[in-house]
Order: sequence, then structure tokens, then C-alpha cells
Amino acid sequence: MANKKNIVVEINPEIREALVEMGAVDAYKCYQCGKCASVCPWFQVGTYEFLVFRFPLETVLGLIASSEDKDDLAREVDKIYRCVGCEACVDQCPLGVKMPHILRSARRILVDFGSYPENLKSVVQKIRNVGNPLGEPREKRADWAEEIGVKDYSEEMEILYFACCLPSYDTRLKNVAKATAFLLKRAGVSFGILGAKESCCGEAIRRVGAESVYQETARSNIGNFKESGVKKVLVSSPHCYVTFQKEYPDLGGEFDAVHSTEFFWKCIEQGKILPKKSFGKKVVYHDPCTLGRQSGIYDAPRNILGSIPDLELLEVEDFSRNLSLCCGAGSGALWIDWPKGERMADIRIKQLVDTGADVIAVACPYCLQMFEETVKAMNLNVQVMDVSEILFESLGEDEVR
Ligand code: SF4
Ligand code: SF4
Repeated sequence: MANKKNIVVEINPEIREALVEMGAVDAYKCYQCGKCASVCPWFQVGTYEFLVFRFPLETVLGLIASSEDKDDLAREVDKIYRCVGCEACVDQCPLGVKMPHILRSARRILVDFGSYPENLKSVVQKIRNVGNPLGEPREKRADWAEEIGVKDYSEEMEILYFACCLPSYDTRLKNVAKATAFLLKRAGVSFGILGAKESCCGEAIRRVGAESVYQETARSNIGNFKESGVKKVLVSSPHCYVTFQKEYPDLGGEFDAVHSTEFFWKCIEQGKILPKKSFGKKVVYHDPCTLGRQSGIYDAPRNILGSIPDLELLEVEDFSRNLSLCCGAGSGALWIDWPKGERMADIRIKQLVDTGADVIAVACPYCLQMFEETVKAMNLNVQVMDVSEILFESLGEDEVR
């Protein structure tokens, strides 16, 4: 007869209470069906074992980050920071368990102890010091806008355009901010920016677990928005969108946030923007997790693309809309470099390219940056563009001045 070993699990109520206090209360709802693990993008990656259904159980038992062995703890920290916050699991869980909140509570504890990835520490520091994750000077935040004559926001304007950190500073992504500004001008909208007065919306660092720096940053934005008389904020990033819409109200910041795809689709419907130039390419639209699953915006970007002459719109079969696979950049993962063979973006790009598209359309700066880098690394002949850039091209050059 084989020897039976008794496995003794030591429950740690202190850790359990700390996790629940930090927001992991959903752990008690989980009945361990395992569905979350099968829809998690790590399951598609297939080279890294991420049995996410364990986290609720380990929370209830107080076992998360409980090891005193340095190597074990490092492995666990790596696991805790593998979640990209895509919410595929939340979408499919029969009990609506908010897994990212369970992981975020563990991250909050790790951040408090300074035991989290070095790259993310650097991002948190940069946001605290200069208001953006790139560590660029505040006074350069509006450079993209000065080049094309975008005005500073003032109270009588209809809209504050909040371009997000990446389109404000990154050489490639500045084109998204510029295309958006041109489209707003074309639609006859009065708008401006706050430039150096803006800071990062703080979404990524909140998901990383750096709650106090998030709150400091968010309060600074809320104060500046209120002082400037902001009512409506148009954003290019779905991450800014959910933060302004769902999280700033908890800190007293009630602003009407609108994503550029929703806004521009309305402009097209109202005849304020007329896409008329032939695009002549096959385009596949990638649903960003934060715009699709987390905000329910699936149709506006597709409607915009569908209104452009001679643009063939393609879909990724089985992995579209709420089943879209994450680009792998959420919850701070944009700044974590996982080994080759363990990158979600590689899998997603393959799905998108296999449709036969010439252009991958996105509506999120994180997806754009992730896919641009991946396409270059894989040496693929496919363009990555934001929906606003495609719409801008469809106006014809004479339309934007
Ligand atoms: S799908 Fe929901 S209930 Fe099932 S294991 Fe995952 S978190 Fe638990
Ligand atoms: S949020 Fe996404 S990455 Fe995180 S556990 Fe759920 S499915 Fe996996």
C-alpha cells in the first residue's frame, strides 16, 4: 500500500483579515469551479501556469504571500503581478467574483512592504514626482498640442480633452492626440487641454496596489479640473475613462467622461464629421478589455470603421467583443517584461494577423504601444492604428485645417 502523506495547511487569520480589509471580500463568494482559469489569457499563452481560482481559496485561508522563504515569496509576487486586470474571469464567473480586486488587495499589502517588481516601483515614483509613468517633465506635457495650436482649457469651453500620458509624450502615440484634436476641430467642438496641470489618471498604479499615490494623484487632478470649471472630459484611453467615470466620484470628482470613439460616432451620426476618403484596406478591430468588457463599448468603434468608404472590417472569430484576448498591458503589465514565449501580445497579434488584415485598429494607447512593439519584434507587415487616426485619414487632408 502506498504511503499516504498528511498535508497540513496552517490557516493564517491575520493575513486573511488584512486581505479582506484591503478589498478581497469577494473571495468568500468563490466555489472553486475553475472557470476563471480557463478564460484567463494565461490559459491561451499556455507556457505559464496561472491557476487563478486558487487565489480566493488562499485568501480565505490567509495563505497569500505567507511564505517566509525568500525564493517562494518572490515566485508568489511574480504570480500576483501576472494578472493584467482584463476581467475575462469576472465576465464569465457564475458568481461575479471580482478576481482583480482580490489580487489588488494582495498587491496593496506587497506595496506597503515595498515587495513588488522594481519596474513598477519606478513607475509609481515617476507618477508621484512628475505626474506621468515615463518620467518626462511636466512642462513638456502639452508640446504635442502647441505644435498644432490647441488652446488651454477655459471654463466656457464644452470639453476638456485629456489625452492620457502616452499620447502626450510618446513620439508615435502623439499622433493619436493630434488626430483627436483635428477631429474635434473638424466637428466644430470648443475644447482645450490642461497640459502641465494634468497628471496621470492614476488607474495603472491603483491596479498595481499603490493606493496612496493613486489617491494623491487623483485628488490633484480633481482639484485642477474643479478649479478650471471642467464638466465634460473626452479621453483617448479607456483606462482614463473608467477611472474618471467610476473611481473619481469616490474622491468627490464628478465629471462626465466620454471616450473618443463614442463621441466621434455621434459626430458622424449628426453629420458633423463626414468620412469620405477611400481607405482601401482590410481592418481588424481589437476590443480593448477596458473599453469592451469593462465599459460595454463595442459598437461605436466598429460603427466608425464601418462608415469609412472602402474599409473592409474583419473580426477575430471566437475571440471578439467580450471574448477578446487582452493585449497584456493592463494593471501595470505594460512595464513588466515577461520572457519570450510568455507574452500575451504575441498570441493576440497572431489571432489578429490570421484574419488577413492589413491594419489592426485599436482604441486604447496601451494596446497601441503593446502591439506596435510586438509587430516590430515579430517583423510583421501589418500596421497598428488608433480608430481616431483611421477616421482622421478618411477626412482627406483639405478637411482638417
Ligand atoms: S469562476 Fe468564479 S466561482 Fe469559479 S473558481 Fe473562478 S472565481 Fe471561483
Ligand atoms: S483579470 Fe484577466 S488576467 Fe486577471 S485573473 Fe482574471 S482573466 Fe486572468
